[in-house]
Amino acid sequence: MEFQFDLIVVGAGSGGLAAAKRAASYGAKVAIVEVNKIGGTCVIRGCVPKKLMVYAAKSKKNMDSSEGYGLKSKGISFESNILLKNVREEVSRLSNLHRSSLSKLNVTIFEGLGRFITQNELEIICPKTKKILNKVSSKKILISVGGIPKKLNIPGIDLAWTSDDIFELDRFPESILIVGGGYIACEFASIFRNLGTEVTQLIRGQHLLNGFDKDLSSCLEESPTFNEINIISNTQLNSIKRVNGDLESTLDSGDKLLTNNILIATGREPNLLPLNLEFLKLKMDGQYLDVNELNQTSNANIFAVGDIIKRPNLTPVAIEQGRVFADNFFNDLKRKVNYENIPKAVFTIPEISTVGLSEKRAKEIYSEKNIRIFKCKFTPMSNTFKEKKSKCMLKIVVNKLTDKVLGCHMFGETSSEIIQMLSISLNAGITKKEFDITMALHPTISEEFVTMYS
Ligand SMILES: Cc1cc2nc3c(=O)[nH]c(=O)nc-3n(C[C@H](O)[C@H](O)[C@H](O)COP(=O)(O)OP(=O)(O)OC[C@H]3O[C@@H](n4cnc5c(N)ncnc54)[C@H](O)[C@@H]3O)c2cc1C
Repeated sequence: MEFQFDLIVVGAGSGGLAAAKRAASYGAKVAIVEVNKIGGTCVIRGCVPKKLMVYAAKSKKNMDSSEGYGLKSKGISFESNILLKNVREEVSRLSNLHRSSLSKLNVTIFEGLGRFITQNELEIICPKTKKILNKVSSKKILISVGGIPKKLNIPGIDLAWTSDDIFELDRFPESILIVGGGYIACEFASIFRNLGTEVTQLIRGQHLLNGFDKDLSSCLEESPTFNEINIISNTQLNSIKRVNGDLESTLDSGDKLLTNNILIATGREPNLLPLNLEFLKLKMDGQYLDVNELNQTSNANIFAVGDIIKRPNLTPVAIEQGRVFADNFFNDLKRKVNYENIPKAVFTIPEISTVGLSEKRAKEIYSEKNIRIFKCKFTPMSNTFKEKKSKCMLKIVVNKLTDKVLGCHMFGETSSEIIQMLSISLNAGITKKEFDITMALHPTISEEFVTMYS
């Protein structure tokens, strides 16, 4: 059978764009199918617009607390409509940049929803009219359709927002209930609170950021921002209803809350349903597509990258998977994705960043007696003249037997920039002794990483 393309990529997000561009750069005839704006979650409704909002929140926080430095900042107002409009313009600019780089590489763009009709063919459907716009065939097909927010199955759920809706708002609400304690929930709680919204956060467990090193979540809970957030723990949302212009939430305790809006941030799931995959009987790993080290599904010509496979759901991971796929199948480079020491951040104010094993995980793997913890917590110099002083925390997890550094964790300003660099050292197998013989750069927060002795 003659195919129209060497590769069709379904989904023009982080993983799909990376794979399409890399394969096309090797001379492959590539098409990409996208039902929404080119760019995917990261560019359109994730990392990028969120981080721009974090910058807005940081600017406001700095202005609010600048009097100690002699800067009079009373009377500052925040106009959320300006921020939201600027964020949307930047997102469109980035989306257009991706579109033009695809065109330069001769990648054909199909706008619409991709749906499998055979193992090598897709139909492209208009999401509004449901009309079939095109039928396309390819030797290889890469699925990179990403995730969607999980919906709670409770009465009135359609009244609530998901993170996707936040970027479409005209203005920020005066009060919001955020349901969830993961990184997306915490980031939005921090953005909204620091920009003046009254925030209540509802979490199912006892603490925020389940799965992160315990000291990091404690620092966040004790921070000035989260002290201003009404955190309701060990509780779930039972129903939502509209009361006049506001939303009334009923909790499983029977308590009721009235807020302008509700954001549900209780996790994400792979967006596989519209693809019509059932007849292909691809092997699954729970709700994710099962793939081998080459990102190949149980069908040798169908591949998957990004948030639809059971790997850390992060943009750099999806991009690397897409590039490695193209390097292997369109240039025979025999590469693998390195999943060791993937750095992660939570862009609250201050931010949380982490690489390697948490203290708890290290003790589970190597036994408590073989783990040594180095930790310090202090008020950074930048907070000296501030009224509300946030502390920072740095922590190193070390294997006593080998002196290898197993994990580095930090709560504090610019921790993401610091931990990104430390992840190189961890990947190179750095020991605690090598931290100790490294000269400090003074005065910084990160110098504590090389001056912590037991
Ligand atoms: C609010 C938020 C904040 C985040 N912040 C960060 C962060 O700070 N750092 C980080 O690393 N990660 C972050 N992430 C996660 C990151 O965005 C994802 O891990 C990454 O985008 C996954 O890339 P992907 O290629 O798998 O899919 P996506 O980027 O989601 O792209 C999938 C694309 O496929 C399209 N699509 C879906 N179905 C079809 C179909 N049938 N036909 C055609 N097109 C289809 C979608 O419209 C979408 O454009 C965040 C996510 C969210 C929601």
